[in-house]
Amino acid sequence: MARQLADQFAELDAEDEETFAEEEGLLDIQFRCPEYGHEWQEQWPSACDSECPNCDTKNITALT
Ligand SMILES: [Zn+2]
Repeated sequence: MARQLADQFAELDAEDEETFAEEEGLLDIQFRCPEYGHEWQEQWPSACDSECPNCDTKNITALT
C-alpha cells in the first residue's frame, strides 16, 4: 500500500506544471471573475485578459 502511494506522488510531481512554467519564464497571472467572484490562475509570458473557466465571462483583466 505504501509503495502504491509513493508511485502516485511521483506521478503528481512529474505533472507539476507550475515548476515547468517557471523554467519557461512564464508568469502566474491571477484573475477574478467580476460576475461571480470566481478566482483562478493562468500562466502567460505577460499579463493579458482571459475568460472565466467557470462561467465563460470574457475579457477579464488580470489582477497582477
Ligand atoms: Zn465566473
